[in-house]
Formats: sequence, structure tokens, C-alpha cells
Amino acid sequence: MVAALALTFAAPMIAGAYPCDIDWDMGERGFCVRPPTPEPGPGWFTYTVKAGDTLWSIAARYQLDVDTLRYSNPALMRNPDRLAIGEQVRILPILGAIHRVKQGESLEDIAQRWNVTPEEIRNYPANRARVRRLKSGDELVIPGGYLELNIPPPAPSPGSTFAWPLRGWITQGYSAKHRALDIATAYAAPVYAVGDGVVARAGWLFTGYGYSVIINHGNGLQTLYSHMKGPLVRVGARVKRGQMIGQVGSTGRSTGPHVHFEVRKNNVRVDPTPYLPPPPPR
Ligand SMILES: [Zn+2]
Repeated sequence: MVAALALTFAAPMIAGAYPCDIDWDMGERGFCVRPPTPEPGPGWFTYTVKAGDTLWSIAARYQLDVDTLRYSNPALMRNPDRLAIGEQVRILPILGAIHRVKQGESLEDIAQRWNVTPEEIRNYPANRARVRRLKSGDELVIPGGYLELNIPPPAPSPGSTFAWPLRGWITQGYSAKHRALDIATAYAAPVYAVGDGVVARAGWLFTGYGYSVIINHGNGLQTLYSHMKGPLVRVGARVKRGQMIGQVGSTGRSTGPHVHFEVRKNNVRVDPTPYLPPPPPR
């Protein structure tokens, strides 16, 4: 779907007037409002959210899709429902994504993640200088980029305190030597909060856990999610069950993409199984 739409936008971009076939969101002169030419700036511009805007109306106004808005705006990536008046949203002139380069990432890694070729990234004018010497923290426009992993959060079940944090399979169960469940799945798959709570820790834990998040659920209950690609939430943030808090990675002491999931009751690691619905969904 996204790839097919990307072809529609392969035509050269001209700033200003564009014929618009969406009659409920016309610009003043009967043309869709188009972003200004992105070069030689960063390759996008920002739009300030106004009353009544939704992700869908903003996407339609600029002939984008909601995924492009999410892929270009980390806050919307975490929670697409979050759109506040006055907030700045980055608008790409094409379908795609904005990618922030991480330490050690190559152009090939980035291209693979977004399902494009390195050439497609290299050939985008605003990327040229940055692609020559990739630095962590640089941002690249990924024309036509999209994520394959549209995996919904596992549903809760009546009688279970928590929902599963991700879809996958258990590679190591709970024991006296491993007071956790290891749940494996594809790299970069979303990891979700198992219940409502407040983020108590988010970041690199120096105990072999790698990038981790700990959520306080109240009643002395905490959950920990580790070996992630990186946390997507900050300490103090309130999270809802099913909210994405990170992505599956292999950071810390880890042998493959999986999440090491712990439940702590009054600071003691307990068997998570009784808190969860029966089998983890695939
Ligand atoms: Zn483990």
C-alpha cells in the first residue's frame, strides 16, 4: 500500500500550487497546499497544529499518509493519538520517513530498516552532505521508507493482571536461575506496556540488561523489559497498557533479538506467568 502510493509521488516536486482532488481539504486557491521546496535545508518543514486538526486531516492536506507523519515525528511514532494544539509536526514533501542515525549504523542498515535501497537515500538532495560522512544524531530523509512491522499489541484477557508485552515465543522460561521470561521475535518489533503505569527507569542498565524500561504499576508491582533497541519513553511518563515503549533489540548481554521480561512484586522478581494470559500470541 505504502509502496504503491510512493510511486504516485515520484513526479518532480514543485512548490506551491498542486491540483487537489480532495475537495474537503482545499487550499485558498483551490489547490492542495504543498510544502515549500525542501532543498537546501533539512528536507522538510514544520507545521503548527491548530484546533480541529487530526493526523488524518494533516496527512490529507499535504497528500501524505499517516505513517509518513508518524515516521517523521518520534512523538507521534510512540503515540499517534497524541496531537496537541501548537505542537510542531514535521512535514515531508514526499511519502517516507525521517531517520535519526544511531551510533555505528551504516547506510545499508538504515536502508534495510526502512525497506528502501541505499541509493534512494543517497540520491535525495537534502541527504547528500550527511550521507558522505554519517554521524550519529544526523537526520536523513528516507524517500518511500516504511516499516514492515505493523504488529498490534497483544490483547488483555479477563482475569489476567497484565497483557503480554509483545508477540513472540518463549525461549527461556522462569526458573531460580532465570527469574524472567525471554520472549523472542523479529528485530525491531514493537514492545508494549503490559499495564497502565509510570515509567520508573528508561535507558541503558549496566547489569547486562542493555536498553531497558521499568514501569511502576502500583500495588508494589513493577515490570521490566530489556535488551531493547532503545527506550521510547522517558522516566516519569505515564503509559497505558498497549502503548509502545520500545522495540525488540539485542543490546546488553543478549544472544539474539528478544525481550527479557520481569515482574517484580515488592522489589522481588517473581514468576510472570500468573500475571499473564495463557500463551504469548504470535
Ligand atoms: Zn532473560
